[in-house]
Amino acid sequence: MKNIIFIAPPAAGKGTQSAKIEKEFKIPHISTGDILREKAHEDSEVGRYVLEVTTTGGLVKDDIMYQMLEERLSKKDCKNGYILDGFPRNVNQAEKYDEILKRLNQELGYVIVLELSEKTLEMRITGRRVCENCGLVYNINTDNMQPKVESTCDKCGGRLKQRNDDNISSFKTRYQVYLEKTQPLLDYYKQKGVLYVVNGEGSVDEINQAIRSILMEGKNK
Ligand SMILES: [Zn+2]
Repeated sequence: MKNIIFIAPPAAGKGTQSAKIEKEFKIPHISTGDILREKAHEDSEVGRYVLEVTTTGGLVKDDIMYQMLEERLSKKDCKNGYILDGFPRNVNQAEKYDEILKRLNQELGYVIVLELSEKTLEMRITGRRVCENCGLVYNINTDNMQPKVESTCDKCGGRLKQRNDDNISSFKTRYQVYLEKTQPLLDYYKQKGVLYVVNGEGSVDEINQAIRSILMEGKNK
């Protein structure tokens, strides 16, 4: 069973790595954002509540979030594992997640954290470009992630743009919040013996290889 919690600072390449693991191990990628979007379409009391809260920019109550997460994780496609992205974000949520796993008779599995220097993250943030048309993400400061033609999407020919919040000052704030919230969470999982630290400075393939070797052999603890 490959239950994975994936933790990484902003711009660490978590999305790219999640997508690879999802494909290679045939396990679903589950984010709280996706759960909310799906639920908002449902014709039920909870569905209508989620739709209302999310369209008005509010936050869904914790208890309802946990309930939806438990429902999602009890689905058939999670039987052989899943990648949990964006949850838990703090120790309180981690404790709730433990309770959910206990009820589902599931194990914690692997907590994988990508570690990168602040300098590298800054380079990635300032180099990130997104296709206006299809949303594909490029990075002009990272090998193998540059577009073939400058400012042009390889896939659809759309124009590449820098997102407004991809700048140094917004990054510094997001990174600080990440460190503050995440460190206690990492300590929590380290104590449980399920924390695996992956060096996120390498190429996409190198990082993927490191994650795969953890999932196959339980190495790099
Ligand atoms: Zn495109």
